Amino acid sequence: MLFVRFCLHFIAQRIPPGNSWDDREIEMERTRSKSQSRMRRRVVLFPLPLQGHITPMLQLGSILHNKGLSITIIHTTFNSPNSANYPHFDFRSIPDGLSEAVVSVADAVAVMTHVNDNCVEPFRESLSNLLSNVEEEPIACLITDAMLHFTQSVADSLKLPRIVLRTSNISSFLVFAGTRLLYEKGYFPIKDPLSDAPVVEFPPLRVKDIPVVETHDPVKSKHLLLSMIGQTKASSGLIWNSLEEIEQDAVTTLKMEFPIPVFTIGPFHQYFPATSSSLVSQDRSCISWLDKQAPKSVIYVSFGSIVGITETEFLEIAWGLAKSGVPFLWVVRPGSVHGAEWLEALPEGFLEMLEGKGHIVQWAPQQEVLAHPATGGFWTHNGWNSTLESICEGVPMICHPSFGDQTVIARYVSDVWRVGLHLEKKLERGEIERAVKRLILEDEGQEMRNRIMYLKEKVDISLRPGGSAYQALENLVHYIQSF
Ligand code: UDP
Repeated sequence: MLFVRFCLHFIAQRIPPGNSWDDREIEMERTRSKSQSRMRRRVVLFPLPLQGHITPMLQLGSILHNKGLSITIIHTTFNSPNSANYPHFDFRSIPDGLSEAVVSVADAVAVMTHVNDNCVEPFRESLSNLLSNVEEEPIACLITDAMLHFTQSVADSLKLPRIVLRTSNISSFLVFAGTRLLYEKGYFPIKDPLSDAPVVEFPPLRVKDIPVVETHDPVKSKHLLLSMIGQTKASSGLIWNSLEEIEQDAVTTLKMEFPIPVFTIGPFHQYFPATSSSLVSQDRSCISWLDKQAPKSVIYVSFGSIVGITETEFLEIAWGLAKSGVPFLWVVRPGSVHGAEWLEALPEGFLEMLEGKGHIVQWAPQQEVLAHPATGGFWTHNGWNSTLESICEGVPMICHPSFGDQTVIARYVSDVWRVGLHLEKKLERGEIERAVKRLILEDEGQEMRNRIMYLKEKVDISLRPGGSAYQALENLVHYIQSF
């Protein structure tokens, strides 16, 4: 109840100057909110069109739908979700003008910048149409990805509250929020990207962990980040696919730096059985392969949906895995090895030589793989979804981050939660062999498994009635219904 009062107070605070509300009007708003909360409300969601962002947004839609809200998804034509998997949602497509040229360079900043620059009018039109056509189910609010910063001014102009979904973790967001500070302190441009020197402003980070995004246009990247932070502050609330139990300190700092309602309701994927928001078809042969392996014996290797590697790195990984003697399941996305279509760089007869100890697929049902009894470890790039999925299944990690938030997350996995080994050096077969053996075969790996099982338990408790994530979701639903 206290929280709902804070939210109502927050709504009152956010009324723009020149349109200020007096106490009587706030009281009327309270009464209106109470009576409307009995009515079914609709929420409009707009995901960023990248796999690691679409998945949590659709999961959030399902969570809110289960709580009695109707869901409309506005999406770009690029990477549009498969609406057949969500018959209970209403889907609206908007043109994005993304050319093959923008998409093919695999530059996430270019895609995000393009959407922010080019989707303003199509988005406004789609949202206006929805708003003018809602006799039965009034639209309570808009929820958009934090990176879609342009949506704040569109929402403001249509007098619709916007809540932000940040799909990564809180600690890495705080580092992004400190971008200006890091510039002022002279960290940028980073002089030695391999430096182990501590970043005193953000312990336990080292200089090499400061998030940088590889892009053809660093100026746009900085602008994108600053806009994301600014427009998040201007929003009506912030939803996290994370939870207090694993990010307690970060939550405290966040609440001081972002005085808006904060809802740590994650991990979203734990609210249902494995979902089907995958943009690529999953190769289920890996599950029957896993069925034949001994418990906790397999290292699962996947670097998510965006990271690419060089052919040299690809071969070092292949030989490192082979030399470890540990059975491996490896996701190699077509096109993820620079200059190759798929596996052509592998020496001839490589897989045959392993006599069934290695299995390679283009895309796996990852949550099922992590939940499988044969999976003993996960070599990951530490995208937040992958990291959270690993924590929720109690699978310890080998961390090999590539860019952006991944470097921060990896440092937390290895140094704060101590549930993963950090593969700090460049990819080399001997280092890889050693890391895989340490994680799967040695006591060190077992200790990490014990610690991650403890984290998993905390997550499970948090999601039950009385737990912090459970309560945060209740708060979020009340808040949405109060608009
Ligand atoms: N994923 C999957 N199959 C794969 C590889 C990844 O289903 O073979 C899913 C994974 O479960 C996760 C998402 O893709 O939900 C990747 O998101 P993450 O944030 O980890 O990384 P990103 O792709 O954004 O770099």
